[in-house]
Amino acid sequence: MAVVVQKYGGSSVSDAKRLRQVAERVMRTRNQGHPVVVVVSAMGDTTDELLAMAKQVSDNPERRELDMLLSAGERISMALLSMAIRELGGDAISLTGSQSGIITNDRHVDARIIEVRPYRVQEALAQGKIVVIAGFQGVSTKKEVTTLGRGGSDTTAVAMAAALDAEYCEICSDVDGVYSADPRVVDAAERIPTLSYEETQEMAEAGAKVLNAQAVEFAKEKGIAIYARATAGPSPGLDPSIDGTVVRERPPRSAGSVVGVASERDVILLEASAPATDLLAVLDECGVAGKQLHIAGSTTNLVISRENFHNEARVREQFDSRLPGHVRLIDGLAAVSVIGAGINATYRNVRQGSDALSEAGIHPVWISTSSFRITWMVPRERTDDAVRMLHRRFIEQTDRTSS
Ligand code: ADP
Ligand code: ASP
Ligand code: MG
Repeated sequence: MAVVVQKYGGSSVSDAKRLRQVAERVMRTRNQGHPVVVVVSAMGDTTDELLAMAKQVSDNPERRELDMLLSAGERISMALLSMAIRELGGDAISLTGSQSGIITNDRHVDARIIEVRPYRVQEALAQGKIVVIAGFQGVSTKKEVTTLGRGGSDTTAVAMAAALDAEYCEICSDVDGVYSADPRVVDAAERIPTLSYEETQEMAEAGAKVLNAQAVEFAKEKGIAIYARATAGPSPGLDPSIDGTVVRERPPRSAGSVVGVASERDVILLEASAPATDLLAVLDECGVAGKQLHIAGSTTNLVISRENFHNEARVREQFDSRLPGHVRLIDGLAAVSVIGAGINATYRNVRQGSDALSEAGIHPVWISTSSFRITWMVPRERTDDAVRMLHRRFIEQTDRTSS
């Protein structure tokens, strides 16, 4: 039988009881005859807690040291899960990212996987072992420990699934799939049975936390099917889209249909009147990733996500000393997006979304579009209202077939 890769997120391994439940689920899969590789995240809020501790000792924590610190979280859960599986009679072994052959570039804190050399994993599988891998971490070509950016355990799982030629990669979480909006925010959100790689990638990039964007990019590149499922639910049946979301290649939906609404609460809008090359050089030197870059004449706009931005104080200092008075970092905003192939074929969706927001007294400061997405930058305190308004307008008030 082909290998199955299962990834369990932080909330699924947050205490001993949950670790035992995960161990039982892993054993059920193993007992069906599958060789199993398990990827785990850090327990509960461990990563947030470690980051908060780093901030207590340094305003500008060194990125290399952050990686040493953050990678410890997943190391704890891999060892505990391995022990829990062994307690149930399974022959488990835990491996760090580096031991599993996850090779990355050397961009600390949001490194990219460039190669997987899964020799030790394959060796252990050949001995009939269940392999438990610490997610979110790797080793750079300079032999430094790296981490893959927030939500990066998903990426470990998909990269490992591709390297092992796995049958599928199951991403198990506290939610039973990808919904048309965060079900914690929108009561009427619907689970989406199947999604294309492109739709999922756009949802993830727009802030839907349930799947990591880089993981989906990898899955697309290697043609790996992702099953997003609830940890508490059963193993996938013959049709895994019945009680989860399957992400794979699929025929396009009718042009212009919206699949979902997503938001990113903690973003900064950068506005600069400096030469773009000077500005981008500072951002690259400080390792700041941004999106939706617009350069028009001498004006540059960029959206910076705070998710992996841990050296904000240093970046502000650099701007003040090297481009004084030319860079404005506008805080207090969130990005709210609707996603769907061909949604910008006309301006109808932009107009309707803007009207819906305006009816709720929400006035965007910035709108941008791509062929798959419309994004409104709104005041942060209105994020959830904006998501609900857009969901009502584009999902609840529209006749959709959600296959
Ligand atoms: P894990 O720790 O398992 O990786 P995450 O917290 O990263 O879990 O992602 C799961 C969470 O993502 C859910 O609890 C849910 O609130 C949130 N979420 C945001 N957008 C969506 C969406 N469109 N569909 C499902 N869940 C979503
Ligand atoms: N523990 C890491 C995080 O909290 C990675 C992950 O959960 O996927 O972002
Ligand atoms: Mg996650």
